[in-house]
Amino acid sequence: MSAFKKVAGLTGMKDTLPPESAQWESLEALVRDWLAAYGYQNMRTPILEQTRLFARGIGEVTDIVEKEMYSFVDPLNDERLTMRPEFTAGIVRSAIEHNFLYDRPRRIYAMGPVFRHERPQRGRYRQFHQIDVEALGFSGPDVDAELILMLARLWRLMGLDDIRLELNSLGQAAERAAHRAALIAHLEKHMDVLDEEARRRMHVNPLRVLDTKNPAMQDMANSAPRLFDFLGEESLAHYQGLCARLDDAGISYTLNPRLVRGLDYYNLTVFEWVTDRLGAQGTVCGGGRYDGLIELLGGKPAPAVGFAIGMERLLDLWTQQAEVAPAAECQVYLIHQGDAEQRCAARLAESLRDAGLRVLVHAGSAGFKSQFRRADASGAMAAVILGADELSNSAASVKWLRADDSGSAQQETVAFGQLADYLKQRI
Ligand code: ATP
Ligand code: MG
Repeated sequence: MSAFKKVAGLTGMKDTLPPESAQWESLEALVRDWLAAYGYQNMRTPILEQTRLFARGIGEVTDIVEKEMYSFVDPLNDERLTMRPEFTAGIVRSAIEHNFLYDRPRRIYAMGPVFRHERPQRGRYRQFHQIDVEALGFSGPDVDAELILMLARLWRLMGLDDIRLELNSLGQAAERAAHRAALIAHLEKHMDVLDEEARRRMHVNPLRVLDTKNPAMQDMANSAPRLFDFLGEESLAHYQGLCARLDDAGISYTLNPRLVRGLDYYNLTVFEWVTDRLGAQGTVCGGGRYDGLIELLGGKPAPAVGFAIGMERLLDLWTQQAEVAPAAECQVYLIHQGDAEQRCAARLAESLRDAGLRVLVHAGSAGFKSQFRRADASGAMAAVILGADELSNSAASVKWLRADDSGSAQQETVAFGQLADYLKQRI
């Protein structure tokens, strides 16, 4: 018992310990290879940004900005700061600041924690992680299609088979304005079912009202005029250009005219990948085109399109559907008895590491039996034993811990000089 009180971690912010942390590392490695196959490069931006970046970039009248941001005034210099609730605004800020698009468009990704003050539940946390992918400076539906094809490949690589794709087009500003008038008229006709938030938002950001999760408002939302029906020729051509490429690739999708996404900056293409395997939080990935954002944040106008994947939800799905083997702590575990033997084991371990093996040396002294138990728990393939006999013969005993079917000898004596080669051949 400690004389001191424990300090608890924060609600909705998870610790990730081994062996689960190894699954995260496997996922991150797989994701980096997948992104490299499409030429996406990593960008790292700060977790903290000025609050006004998100207010302007995401939109004042959105769930994120109105009620989910971790914002505070830095008491040391009175700056208003926010822990990033998403990546796009920071990436765009950075691209503008570094004139990153001056000579060519760029394919960028980022991975890491984001923060939203939400009610924690399965698939919804206050610190969660996103894989964020942005194609900056590309205007055509070919790149929208590329992003969706990439995602289909990721699901394939991970062995995930029931994530479905929903698509919509939010058109351009003029089309949204025409739709907006019709939508406000519709909302006014249904004032009786609108909740307080909807009433507040209906004149500022009526499209956002349709994004409601309030069951009492679903009928009203379903019967609302559809933005899709207000699209002009060019917007429709963009949408059809995307669909044609998805058809070429054999990717199925459904048009969901209700899909508006929780951020203000989208135009034309928006999409979500949804599954029934995650309970209420079934959206694994959301994205779309945001041709106006770079200009809105003070940059030279340039089109862009991107998406974000929720890593907790993706990992949840992955561990449900595929066998994600826990990684072993090491390949070889060194067991020893006696001071000279320990020092010899430490030297031997370094030479095995020189040969590229992952090695643990038992720390401290303990009986052979308890050291073997520890070796077993480490997941090592082999235990290397150094006792007095081994030391005097300059040869180690090797015990193979994972019995194989061939019935080959489970324990052998190997000269120190041959040990690295011997182990490398068998591991
Ligand atoms: P939701 O409708 O579930 O709140 P969202 O539209 O707010 O999602 P985005 O801003 O599009 O989500 O973020 C991209 C992805 O990040 C989501 O599709 C989801 O997988 C994940 N995500 C969003 N919020 C959370 C959260 N609080 N905890 C864990 N993952 C989240
Ligand atoms: Mg949300």
